[in-house]
Amino acid sequence: MTPLIILGGGLAGLSAAYHLKEGYTLYEKEDRPGGLCRSDPHRGFLFDRSGHLLHFKNDYARKLVHRLLKGNLITHRRSAWVYSKERYTRYPFQANTYGLPAEVIADCLFGFIEAKKRYQITPRTRYKNFEDWILRNFGRGIAAHFMLPYNEKMWTLPPRELTTEWLSPYVPRPSLEEVVLGALTDQNKPFGYNAEFFYPHRGGIEALVRALAKEAKPITTGCRAETVDWKRRLIRFANGEEAPYNYLISTLPLPEFISMLTPSLPHLERAAAELRFCSVYNINFGISRKNLSDKHWVYFPEKEFSFYRVGFPANFSPHVVSPRASSVYTEVSYSPSRPVDKLTIVDKVKEDLQRAGILKSSKEVIAEKVFDIKYAYVIYDHTYRKNVRLIHQFLQRNRIFSIGRFGGWKYSSMEDAILDGKETAEKIAKLL
Ligand SMILES: Cc1cc2nc3c(=O)[nH]c(=O)nc-3n(C[C@H](O)[C@H](O)[C@H](O)COP(=O)(O)OP(=O)(O)OC[C@H]3O[C@@H](n4cnc5c(N)ncnc54)[C@H](O)[C@@H]3O)c2cc1C
Repeated sequence: MTPLIILGGGLAGLSAAYHLKEGYTLYEKEDRPGGLCRSDPHRGFLFDRSGHLLHFKNDYARKLVHRLLKGNLITHRRSAWVYSKERYTRYPFQANTYGLPAEVIADCLFGFIEAKKRYQITPRTRYKNFEDWILRNFGRGIAAHFMLPYNEKMWTLPPRELTTEWLSPYVPRPSLEEVVLGALTDQNKPFGYNAEFFYPHRGGIEALVRALAKEAKPITTGCRAETVDWKRRLIRFANGEEAPYNYLISTLPLPEFISMLTPSLPHLERAAAELRFCSVYNINFGISRKNLSDKHWVYFPEKEFSFYRVGFPANFSPHVVSPRASSVYTEVSYSPSRPVDKLTIVDKVKEDLQRAGILKSSKEVIAEKVFDIKYAYVIYDHTYRKNVRLIHQFLQRNRIFSIGRFGGWKYSSMEDAILDGKETAEKIAKLL
């Protein structure tokens, strides 16, 4: 019996395989590994599934990625911006209102100062929800001009429906001095977790997957798991094959994995049905002109624009476009609470890119590639914690480790996926 099965060949599954070294079988449903970190060639362009940029908090992950990519990594100092009121300001908005209309800057400054006077924020402060966090930490001006509309657009629901358990590494909290300086001057300070980032010189983000997969063989591709008999510890695949296991690592989206369990478990199915997520319609264009932008990416908080973010891959690496071209990726969030019209959205995005002055005309578009990313962001609503805990506790009792961004059901990065795989491999090695 193969003692250990890994389901899913995204970064988390590949990392588990790499760190286990042997004694496992990895099954991936697609014809190649990589999951969200695949890069597709199309008409002379290389398109990632939206922007996939590497940043590190952990030294082990940093060293591993640098070793795997052996010189095939470019280091960047982030150039991220916000577009609103028909102008660009630096990211993060809360620290950089310089250049906005005077009344907007005044709203942001007075709101911030008022919030500082009113609320004593300590590490132990408890918040009712994400909106409450925004208002107490940044005040009503920054909330109204960026934080509330941007987050509602990205998450597809109002921030009051979200908790705050996901946000500590992701949302920078500038001091009063920084907010004032950033209102009076063009403050170019490296706020936040991704001020420095890395990207492969050649091969798009999939270069990382390829390097990891080479050291994590064997991988069985084109093999979709269909059911998991958790009592007999037996997986059935769409091609009719079966595989028994002693331990199972799953990186499949949690709601899908729960629906695959047999015999079925109604209480877990009820919990899984409450897990919410939003999807991203990622529309990429190849453009017939060089130097489309001097920026890495731009946030769009305003409702008039269909996308919440756009980015410029040729500024990550010149090798993802041909010499006289450039490209742009756009991200449109959707969910049952805010659906997207997939028949009209591509044209709308082109119009919006022209309105923002990024495209001169839709005739500049010479390639188009859409990735419909069903599971993109896990939504931390008020039922999240109890449901995720219930499901994971059951799985662990039954020798199933559900990891990665969607197996763990969390807001996490490529680095986190690599570390999840490593930690799980180490735990299982002790059990075998
Ligand atoms: C829009 C967007 C932008 C992002 N940008 C960044 C970024 O800039 N930087 C960063 O660090 N992170 C970013 N991330 C996060 C990053 O993509 C993830 O953290 C990471 O890729 C997750 O890897 P994973 O292995 O957990 O999941 P996945 O990549 O989803 O892998 C799961 C694998 O399971 C396979 N699978 C599914 N069902 C089955 C089945 N039934 N049988 C067999 N195989 C199956 C899938 O095909 C897939 O290969 C972004 C994510 C999104 C959505």
